Amino acid sequence: MRIRVNRTACLGAGQCVLAAPLVFAQRDTDATIVLLDAQPPPALHEAVATAADVCPNAVIEVLDGEGPRE
Ligand code: SF4
Repeated sequence: MRIRVNRTACLGAGQCVLAAPLVFAQRDTDATIVLLDAQPPPALHEAVATAADVCPNAVIEVLDGEGPRE
């Protein structure tokens, strides 16, 4: 699983952080999303999928595959 986020579309609602606090955070300055782990381990995949589902503005994109570690 790889994750991409579109911060410019983020409303700062924080639903993603509630769903997956080990993967997402919010910036202190404007509450927009911070991606803490773009390739989370399998144990967090369900939480990430929930976060993507509950985000009100489709900011979180979940991609298949592991891809190279950055
Ligand atoms: S749930 Fe969506 S809109 Fe809200 S902070 Fe997270 S990414 Fe941004």
